[in-house]
Amino acid sequence: MKNKATVIGAGLAGAEAALQLAQRGIQVDLYEMRPEKTTGAHKTDKYAEFVCSNSMGSLDITNASGLLKKEMEILGGKLIKIALENSVPAGNALAIDREGFSEKVTELINNNPNINVIKKEITEIPADENIIIASGPLTSTPLADSIKEFTQSEHLHFFDAIAPIIEKESINFDKAFYASRYNKGEASYINCPMNKEEYEKFYNFLINAPRIELKEFEQDAKFFESCLPVEVLASRGVDTLRFGPMKPVGLVDDRTGEKNYAVVQLRQDNSAKTLYNIVGFQTNLKWGAQKELISLIPGLENANIMRYGVMHRNTFINSPRILNPTLQTRNRKDLFFAGQITGTEGYTESIASGLLAGINLARLIKQENLITLPAETMLGALMNYITNPEHDKFQPINSNWAIVKEIELPKQIRKNKKEKNTILANRSIETLEKFIKENS
Ligand SMILES: Cc1cc2nc3c(=O)[nH]c(=O)nc-3n(C[C@H](O)[C@H](O)[C@H](O)COP(=O)(O)OP(=O)(O)OC[C@H]3O[C@@H](n4cnc5c(N)ncnc54)[C@H](O)[C@@H]3O)c2cc1C
Repeated sequence: MKNKATVIGAGLAGAEAALQLAQRGIQVDLYEMRPEKTTGAHKTDKYAEFVCSNSMGSLDITNASGLLKKEMEILGGKLIKIALENSVPAGNALAIDREGFSEKVTELINNNPNINVIKKEITEIPADENIIIASGPLTSTPLADSIKEFTQSEHLHFFDAIAPIIEKESINFDKAFYASRYNKGEASYINCPMNKEEYEKFYNFLINAPRIELKEFEQDAKFFESCLPVEVLASRGVDTLRFGPMKPVGLVDDRTGEKNYAVVQLRQDNSAKTLYNIVGFQTNLKWGAQKELISLIPGLENANIMRYGVMHRNTFINSPRILNPTLQTRNRKDLFFAGQITGTEGYTESIASGLLAGINLARLIKQENLITLPAETMLGALMNYITNPEHDKFQPINSNWAIVKEIELPKQIRKNKKEKNTILANRSIETLEKFIKENS
């Protein structure tokens, strides 16, 4: 096997992967199509550009994203180090000076003797050995078509809007109840009932709530009629939702027997039954507005939102069918995917998967065993989640506690989120450090 690798895309994942390979003595050809061809969202010709906000989320290890950052530091992540060096004050969060950050990453890559940057669009998956595809959610169309062919068309997805995901533990079951419509099948939906007054308050907030401004290239986005953002549906009339995703018919709370004016339904989102998505609530509202809107739903007043609804073009592969938790494809052992295209969501997650793909491709080239990170770690859990073959309706996901390997704890600790997360975070760090010792 050649001591050489190709990385496609010098975004967050690709830049990290290339630096990891280079550090392990592998010669890397890093392809980046900007500035010749733009994605529509990137503004510069620098590598590892933050396309939207400059926040990478919490640094607190009792927060899922904070733990993921800690794990990247332990694993020797390059971009997390540069991010910390280029941080700006943001309380407990890691916000960065995006220009300083990208400039530093660009300099490090350009000056690395093992990395050869080629400014060129890749239009099909190269037949060469040892590839990491990290071309992101805005992968150019010719490459997307080639990936589609490799993954067999239905395994490459495009979508406009996704609904928020809620942690079940945070739902108030004094108000919410389990039922299926007309009691058909298992009562697997969680239902949040509303009276007329509650519905009107909710509706008025929804139609006036601020939306995220669309990028020019997304403004002509065509929605599937069955996948309209909830605010677009609501703007058609005050009762449209009550006859659509919020229809109350056939949903009765056995405890009260009462009929409801409207009902918000939540559908199970993971096999562990810890995450639920809000049915029909795909949205483009600003995240603050989503939080406020959800708090107006009886039962979700204090809901933990594990992933906000988002709307933008997103290209992601059906990882549960295509990838191993090492990020290696099942059908071609020298081909890896990394970054948002794998179905993880967010800057931190993209960098983290670039880190893992870089380490594993280097190990493959050196004929060492690939690493699958422990399920106790946030990154290991994320990789397990996105590559779990049991997911037949796969949607992208952020790091979150609900996917991490369960731990037996006394009830009073389980109820104290901070205490529970501290235990989980310390377990992850210990497990990861031990894992590294055993595998290096
Ligand atoms: C509009 C938008 C806003 C977002 N906002 C946020 C946010 O606020 N917070 C957050 O956490 N996440 C956000 N995300 C999600 C995600 O975290 C980022 O998109 C992140 O940059 C993904 O990292 P990546 O490395 O997978 O892809 P990218 O960082 O996009 O890198 C991919 C690189 O590949 C290049 N490329 C594409 N096709 C080719 C090709 N054929 N040949 C060569 N090069 C190619 C691109 O030019 C790009 O440089 C947003 C995504 C989008 C699309």
